[in-house]
Amino acid sequence: MIEFQQVSKTFGHWKAVDNLSLHLQDGEFTVLIGPSGSGKSTTLKMINRLVEHDSGRILFAGKEIRSFQPEDLRRRMGYAIQSNGLFPHWTVEENIGTVPALLKWPKSRIADRVTELLTLLDLEPNRYRGRYPHELSGGQQQRVGVARALAADPEILLMDEPFGALDPVTRAALQKELARIHQRSGKSIVLVTHDIDEALLLADRIVLLDKGRIAQVGTPQRILAQPASDFVADFVGRSE
Ligand code: ADP
Ligand code: MG
Repeated sequence: MIEFQQVSKTFGHWKAVDNLSLHLQDGEFTVLIGPSGSGKSTTLKMINRLVEHDSGRILFAGKEIRSFQPEDLRRRMGYAIQSNGLFPHWTVEENIGTVPALLKWPKSRIADRVTELLTLLDLEPNRYRGRYPHELSGGQQQRVGVARALAADPEILLMDEPFGALDPVTRAALQKELARIHQRSGKSIVLVTHDIDEALLLADRIVLLDKGRIAQVGTPQRILAQPASDFVADFVGRSE
């Protein structure tokens, strides 16, 4: 589905991503993990061209990502981030309907989709659809952010620490929700986190980054049982 071939990205003198090669399989739940500054967000944003890579190739559905219009990519790829990114002056319904509206779905179809997604994410539709983001709790805002990312049934869901700012109980609830969505839809998901417990819980495959390079790629079981280096063993062992 997504393939990185020797991809690098430099900011000034700093190689944020250094010669990364990685194949993300269709339908797979991939977790990108690593310490702060290891290049997780940069890697994710290169997939939807919020950041342009300097060298190497990134393929989406077999084609170099630069051959797609960025807007087109972003319609095909849902994107959810830690600071939820909701438009403060738009209602829940308008926020979730952002991409469907761009795609010119009829209003009634958007309304139905909003009902469906709010239900899926455990928010009573008629209670919440007309609210503004500031009228929601942090956890509810994150749910709306996830619903928005899912709205137009994207081929791939990109998520950057979407639950990072939440209390442990809400985080666990949303992790469960996301696992359920993945099981039901079989959608490809790429999730960035620095929380090893979250990675072990959700991932089919973990990609552990260190200073812009891959330290290890493998299933949670494999990474736990056979860490490829002291760095990996330390990182995995840091789980609280
Ligand atoms: P992570 O998400 O793993 O914390 P990032 O991908 O955000 O890491 O950043 C990797 C490195 O690239 C960091 O050293 C960061 O400071 C640097 N970096 C990221 N984005 C920019 C930018 N827009 N301008 C300059 N440096 C950046
Ligand atoms: Mg980051």
